Amino acid sequence: MSTGGHFNPKGMEHGAPEDEIRHAGDLGNLVVGEDGSVDISITDSQIPLTGEDSIIGRAVVVHADEDDLGKGGHELSKSTGNAGGRLACGVIGLQAA
Ligand SMILES: [Zn+2]
Repeated sequence: MSTGGHFNPKGMEHGAPEDEIRHAGDLGNLVVGEDGSVDISITDSQIPLTGEDSIIGRAVVVHADEDDLGKGGHELSKSTGNAGGRLACGVIGLQAA
């Protein structure tokens, strides 16, 4: 919980990565393999690696349940996507090639 809420520098409601109204940190759902592994590659225009809203030093958090992307009608849909508990997290950093 020390990672805080969804990265939201523009003061928006929770949404899907392709939505105009979304938290900048809303990156959608992952597809997990039967062995529990995940391979992801994310390209997104709202999470820059430099500048005032840089995400370096922030965290990526994986939630337990499916994110309803703000459209589930649950009381938590517009804040967290009703995505359930936090399973894992990691800090975002840069590594020299
Ligand atoms: Zn969000």
